[in-house]
Amino acid sequence: MRPLLMGALGAASAWCAPAPAAHLPQLARALGIHRRLPHRAGVALTFDDGPHPRGTPAVLETLARADVIATFFLVGEQVERWPTLAAEIAAEGHEIALHGYRHRNLLLRPPTTLSRDLDRAVAVIGQATGRRPACYRPPYGIFSTAGLVLARRRGWLPLLWSHWGRDWEGRATPAAISARATAGLMAGDVVLLHDADHYSASDSWRNTVAALPSILETVSDLDLPFVPVTQEA
Ligand SMILES: [Zn+2]
Repeated sequence: MRPLLMGALGAASAWCAPAPAAHLPQLARALGIHRRLPHRAGVALTFDDGPHPRGTPAVLETLARADVIATFFLVGEQVERWPTLAAEIAAEGHEIALHGYRHRNLLLRPPTTLSRDLDRAVAVIGQATGRRPACYRPPYGIFSTAGLVLARRRGWLPLLWSHWGRDWEGRATPAAISARATAGLMAGDVVLLHDADHYSASDSWRNTVAALPSILETVSDLDLPFVPVTQEA
């Protein structure tokens, strides 16, 4: 079983786009990586790669207007650049989760380097927000064996996503992002979006912000509550 899993992970590492493991639900399940909410109480909106000086405030404003709570998977090196924005996310009641210190593929990082990276991210995030993340999603949605072991040792929930807007792509339109993010949505689903363009097409966050009202409306029409990823609604 193990060589098979490692082989699949090896193949996954060759993909350039974020997140192959989300396409391999059986593999994710076998490794104990969640793609949906453990408590299944509602829908979780998740934003990766921030904070961002323009994207994060625009997303926060849209969420506040609709009184919606989301989860932000912060990158340590960006929190260092924009600590006040990270603090603002926390102050508005959103869940703070971990995306790493550097935004690099885990399969290319030795365990000791990765362990230091995670500890550094937690320290930087804690200093800026006063929070300790309880949930971890690695860059590109790619877990290495070491990444999974280190996350478990620290008591973090390893979480990918069940839906995505593919909002990092330069050609993504707000309508397409919204349609992909909400297709067949039900309680327990986790939606991946990005409030930053640090690691994706330039200005991609603008399309995300433009898509958000439609995404929020669709979820509201389905009568599903928005929930943070590690807490009951
Ligand atoms: Zn990312």
